[in-house]
Amino acid sequence: MKYILLLISLIVSFALAAKDVSLDDLRNLKADFEKKYSITLFIEQTPFSISKFESKVITKEFYQDLYEYMIILDEEMSKYPLKFLWKTRLRAIALVRSLIYNYQLRGAIPDYGREILFFDILDGSDFEIYQRHVIHHEFYHMIEQELNGSSYWKDPVWKSYNSPDFNYGKGGATMQKNANASVFSHPQIGFLNLYSQSGLEEDKAEIFASLFIKQEYSKLKKWAKKDKILKNKMDYMMNFLIQNNKDFNPSYWDKLHSQAK
Ligand SMILES: [Zn+2]
Repeated sequence: MKYILLLISLIVSFALAAKDVSLDDLRNLKADFEKKYSITLFIEQTPFSISKFESKVITKEFYQDLYEYMIILDEEMSKYPLKFLWKTRLRAIALVRSLIYNYQLRGAIPDYGREILFFDILDGSDFEIYQRHVIHHEFYHMIEQELNGSSYWKDPVWKSYNSPDFNYGKGGATMQKNANASVFSHPQIGFLNLYSQSGLEEDKAEIFASLFIKQEYSKLKKWAKKDKILKNKMDYMMNFLIQNNKDFNPSYWDKLHSQAK
């Protein structure tokens, strides 16, 4: 009897998990997102391509993945005050699969010229925190471009926090094949992970993203107690945010970090 009950519950849960996501469900979510943020969301077609970019449109067998990604995307974007989002002039987000830049598979790509963020919804789909992190990381590159003039700005203040003998690597593109690069391992004083060491712009994007992900923020905060360089970088980024939008005040962070995710 016990086994029959177990079998029935397995069948029921499988049926629930396999619930078909229809195109209408996706279009409704898209409409809600666009209304809420005034940002266009491409889900059925890739917005006109430019050189070196390649991606595939999401077909029916990936609708469930797309649906789940759209829920995550909404949860993460809702962490930004709307006025801040608009200040960054982010115009659209394109959700695709098999995203390639310059012959290299990428989880995300910012298109600075057209103010569009591209995300591969299948990249890291078995590791939700990573997917959430990537949304903020990539958005930061666009913020840096928009509010500080260049996504590759060699910010002298940021650089001054590192020890004088430290040199960054050759940029994030050189790290794409290193599966451990994004793991929060605190490999050296001043750095969250190996990816942070690949370039100043990646270091900033990693610190920025970690502020918005509860689990990562708690690591940053813990390490920053004994790591003055990390503490300086964390304070710098929080100051940058509050200077651009007064809603990023201490109570905003308290509220954000008391949330479940
Ligand atoms: Zn990056």
